[in-house]
Amino acid sequence: MEAASNEDAFSRLWIWERVGNCLPWYLDVASNKKPAKYLISGRIPCEFDLSEPSDDELWMEHQRGTEVFLDAWEGIREGEIHLEDLPRPQTSLVDLSVELTLRMLRRCDFCRWNCRIDRSAGTKHGTCQLEAESRVSSYFHHRGEELVFRGVSGSGTIFFTSCNLRCSYCQNSNISEDKLNGIPVTPQQLAAAAWQLRMEGCHNINWVGGDPTIHLHTIVQAIALLAKNQVNLEDLDYVSAVKADFGRPSFSEERGRYNGEVNVPMLWNSNFFMSAETMRILRPLIDVWLPDFKFGNDRCSVFLARTPWYWETVSRNHQLVYDWGEDMVIRHLVMPNHVDCCTKPVLNWIAAHTPEALVNVMDQYHPDYACNPADPNYDPQFEELARRPHDREIQEAYDHAVDMGLRFDDVTFEKA
Ligand code: SF4
Repeated sequence: MEAASNEDAFSRLWIWERVGNCLPWYLDVASNKKPAKYLISGRIPCEFDLSEPSDDELWMEHQRGTEVFLDAWEGIREGEIHLEDLPRPQTSLVDLSVELTLRMLRRCDFCRWNCRIDRSAGTKHGTCQLEAESRVSSYFHHRGEELVFRGVSGSGTIFFTSCNLRCSYCQNSNISEDKLNGIPVTPQQLAAAAWQLRMEGCHNINWVGGDPTIHLHTIVQAIALLAKNQVNLEDLDYVSAVKADFGRPSFSEERGRYNGEVNVPMLWNSNFFMSAETMRILRPLIDVWLPDFKFGNDRCSVFLARTPWYWETVSRNHQLVYDWGEDMVIRHLVMPNHVDCCTKPVLNWIAAHTPEALVNVMDQYHPDYACNPADPNYDPQFEELARRPHDREIQEAYDHAVDMGLRFDDVTFEKA
């Protein structure tokens, strides 16, 4: 009864009358009217040989499986087929995704840095400085995300350490710059944490960091365990050491179920500096996308984040998700002195390429890390970012979003 009222309260939020047509799949999965993609992918048969030395063969099978998945997803969205019509195969698209991500880890190309190092060996580090281990800094009901994500019970947010960008102003530098923050987690422990958040009423599992991309292998394995309902509650004894909720959120195993299976939308909250291969892995697993679009050109991304290839990579990934017809909300953080070079080009691109996407034009930038004069890491070369944006800069950003005809006001101003 309580579980049903939590989901009802979520689906009755005023915001859905305004933006429900932009996030229809996410809303249906969060409300348990439809099964999450991982449940569908777990029903898509894929035949592969673990001893197969050729990655190409596996990627071809993944491509074939994704096409079958897309047909099934369409049928389920249209109500023409039901999850229970699809038998559980011996090996599925989810299993193949696990195998491919573990292979990717051995010559890592999770993101555009394409470091090609063997992270499982742990002898060399790429830009993210990580080996195979994934660490979680904290996980909790996030009540500060957009209303569509925080809902009435919070967004089930899991913060991973380290990052593949090096933003001088990072607003989460305590975890992005400290790869040893938090505790190491296994996929089993991660699946248990996600399960716990859903049973406590969270509306989604919000994979974030740092950035989740660099932990792709651990996250995909955790999703595979959820897909097979292989969650061991004893794992909570360990991982709950980094659960950061005040008090004890009410818990019910009745919550978050679709035909008795654990059901929760997967939310990819990322800088979107992913490789094309990572995009392929995520497509049949992620229900709703929350990409940043930070910089309007590579000169700013190189100066502010020591990251080349930013524009081509991030714009390509935004375009892919939009063209796939996925549910998405784009975030752009307005930075001081970067309205003309970053905000306006980003908003222009969105208007031209993903015009129906929801956009959150964010005003909460504050000087942090190397841009904060009070921080030991402060670097005077970033003086232009060592203040909050002026009101006139924020207004200029909003005015430009209006001029571009963007769908930004509902998600940007919902807290006002
Ligand atoms: S995740 Fe990205 S930065 Fe880290 S090793 Fe892999 S390719 Fe390099």
